[in-house]
Amino acid sequence: MSAVGPNPSRVRCPSCHAEITTNVKHEATTKTHIMALLLCLFLCWPCVCVPYCMDSCQNANHYCPNCNAFIGAYSS
Ligand SMILES: [Zn+2]
Repeated sequence: MSAVGPNPSRVRCPSCHAEITTNVKHEATTKTHIMALLLCLFLCWPCVCVPYCMDSCQNANHYCPNCNAFIGAYSS
């Protein structure tokens, strides 16, 4: 598994062996849902969407643009 950061990285795809710049998709994690739940309980419900809008509360999943292979995930 390649070490990847929160931004698109230049790596060699383990699947198609091409030098590619990864596609990054930010996806909600358990942490994101817990953050949303805590905001809901202790603050106000309009804040619930905040963790889903913040990249730092989500995993950055890296994919190959050639073959769509999963390269690695970065979680902050
Ligand atoms: Zn590939």
